[in-house]
Amino acid sequence: MTVSISEFIKEPKIAYFSMEIGVRSDMPTYSGGLGILAGDTIKSAADLNLPVVAVTILTKKGYFKQELDIYGRQTELPDEWDPNNFMTPLKERVSVFIEGREVYIGAWLYVVESMRGPRIPILFLDTDLPENAPEDRGITHHLYGGDQVYRLKQEIVLGIGGTRILDELGFEIKKYHMNEGHSALLTLELLKRYKKDIEEVWDERLVWDVEKIRSLCVFTTHTPVAAGHDKFPYDLVQKTMCEIIPIDVVKDLAGREHLNMTLLALNLSNYINGVAKKHGEVSKGMFPGYEIHAITNGVHSFTWTCDSMKRLYDKYLPGWANEPEIFVRVGRIPDDELWEAHMEAKRHLIDHVNRETQTGMNYDTLTIGFARRATAYKRADLLFTDIERLSYIGEGRLQIIYAGKAHPRDESGKQLIQHIFEIKEKLKDKIKIAFLKNYNMELALKLVSGVDVWLNTPLRPLEASGTSGMKATHNGVPNFSVLDGWWIEGWIEGFTGWAIGPSPDVPADPARDADDLYYKLETAIIPTFYNDKHTWLRIMQNAIGKNAYYFNSHRMMRRYVTEAYIR
Ligand SMILES: *Cc1c(COP(=O)(O)O)cnc(C)c1O
Repeated sequence: MTVSISEFIKEPKIAYFSMEIGVRSDMPTYSGGLGILAGDTIKSAADLNLPVVAVTILTKKGYFKQELDIYGRQTELPDEWDPNNFMTPLKERVSVFIEGREVYIGAWLYVVESMRGPRIPILFLDTDLPENAPEDRGITHHLYGGDQVYRLKQEIVLGIGGTRILDELGFEIKKYHMNEGHSALLTLELLKRYKKDIEEVWDERLVWDVEKIRSLCVFTTHTPVAAGHDKFPYDLVQKTMCEIIPIDVVKDLAGREHLNMTLLALNLSNYINGVAKKHGEVSKGMFPGYEIHAITNGVHSFTWTCDSMKRLYDKYLPGWANEPEIFVRVGRIPDDELWEAHMEAKRHLIDHVNRETQTGMNYDTLTIGFARRATAYKRADLLFTDIERLSYIGEGRLQIIYAGKAHPRDESGKQLIQHIFEIKEKLKDKIKIAFLKNYNMELALKLVSGVDVWLNTPLRPLEASGTSGMKATHNGVPNFSVLDGWWIEGWIEGFTGWAIGPSPDVPADPARDADDLYYKLETAIIPTFYNDKHTWLRIMQNAIGKNAYYFNSHRMMRRYVTEAYIR
């Protein structure tokens, strides 16, 4: 594979920086929603022929491979992969100083090619070079691995190294888009680069052209809790990072006590957004004084539609993949064909589940899917709040499929998986439950297309957007979810799916969410599925025509262009 960078440097670009970018299932450069969103962003940018270059780190040892014993106890194995199978190493090098050592950075070129022709480069940064000290070669090995020092080193490589390598390769950059705060150190590099050339200044700080940098930067925040934002103590920063601009100036921009990556990005971007309307509001509350917009996430329609549904859309809605607005005409698809396409995906999933777990699931039982990062706020076990009630409602009428990895240091996330295993055993004669290991993009597509209902039970307002539910809608699978993130915008009760818990304008009531979950299952979802296929098919149609129609990354990217990039 010979690909050259020269075809990509002919016009000024928007540089999209993200710690993780998930473009394909077998390239483990992602851990979850953030990375897959980044991959979908680049795929839509390619389809729409936007002038974009993406920058991320290579993570040659991946995130991790999940092992689960019979009790659901997770262990993590390395997930090594060979970049040579997917991308081309570039010969250019730049360097940054880390702990006083010069660390060289190279890049691999991966090309995302749209079916319509346009190509977008992704640069995967790599410090595993013979010229580096052994401890520095590992900086780009593990995604979200290691401690705070390791994280800071990665963020130096991503933000500062990434900006330098774009320059070295000859890119002209007209906007820098920071997907989450991990890359915010790029603003310091830009401040240094655009330093004003004034001879005598009465205040030294006037040489830093903050306005210029703001006009170049766009920041998307993804985290609705302050604790989730990267913060580094200044003594660590000074030990690890060489001075790019004076530390006093950094403190003015990134906070007096810690280097707060979010604050740095907020202060140096003139367009800032959250990833759903509600998340925009929550972010405004967290960061008063900043103008924070909202562009609700979307998913890449072609990537997240299963084969049987693709065939159906090609037949009745030609052009849908590049113009998801065409889903508005979903009513043209005959009910029996929509059902058959769904059943094909469902059989495919159920066969897979039975092969992997010997659960003995069947094709005709109402199947609920729940797959996401196993972490406390997602409450994977909310469904098990009252086992008696669940078995009363669901015996013989429900089967449930789970998947999800817990971060290696997330003990409560790991316990969640064990709890699911425990209940799975307990209920096995009444409700079949399966847990599939190694949740990745490929498994995600199988799940979101093959279940009948996609369940989501986050503790609000902690789900900034959520995207797996959007994938489900692309396959005609309705959502049953707490009103948080994107679902507040996509939900019409009994029409596009169902809500769990109170409406978004009244305070959350976590204690009552489970009650509502059981109530809706018993009185709405189960009876409609088994006794009113006609209404069920209308809901499936609405998931496509009202949810997939809107919650796709083509719509999202058009909004980034008109609201964030062209300003
Ligand atoms: C889509 C996806 C996610 C993110 O889904 P959420 O609903 O935002 O939790 C995480 N992991 C994988 C493998 C995915 O495909």
